[in-house]
Amino acid sequence: MLAENGVPTIEDLAQVLPAPERLARGPVAIAECFQEIPCDPCYHSCLRRAIAPFADINERPRIDHEKCNGCGLCVNRCPGLAIFVVDQTYSDSEALVKLPYEFLPLPKPGDIVSAINRSGAAVGEARVVKVQSGKQMDGTNIVWLAVPQDLSMEVRHFKMEEVR
Ligand code: SF4
Ligand code: SF4
Repeated sequence: MLAENGVPTIEDLAQVLPAPERLARGPVAIAECFQEIPCDPCYHSCLRRAIAPFADINERPRIDHEKCNGCGLCVNRCPGLAIFVVDQTYSDSEALVKLPYEFLPLPKPGDIVSAINRSGAAVGEARVVKVQSGKQMDGTNIVWLAVPQDLSMEVRHFKMEEVR
């Protein structure tokens, strides 16, 4: 499925998702980077050395989720827009998903948007909590979305057409 349409399978995701126990402790990065390509800015962006050194630049990133504190530095450095931070401790009912976003206009905190899954399908509503933008982001902004807890591993994009 991944090779045909770019959508990872459950088996693909199982390789990169943090353990439930780690997710329960707070924000953590997930690199949904499944192709071997010559690319490694995620490694160079991580000050905590939570991303293992690449023996070969074509290697896929390997995040040590125990070292990662979910700072998000790697999210906007990834040219593939493949890294997300998920915080399942945000509240009892909602999780926070921090995702890279390169479209304009940018949403505003408080906006309600249409939450989109990896297949491009709308799966519900999300609330914009924060938008990290500015020159230092170099065009790759980070949008923080509050989503229902059970969608934290589904929502990976959003559309603003549904803004209320
Ligand atoms: S979120 Fe921060 S600590 Fe975690 S892998 Fe990315 S840069 Fe490193
Ligand atoms: S920067 Fe992004 S696309 Fe490049 S290797 Fe890292 S996760 Fe993959």
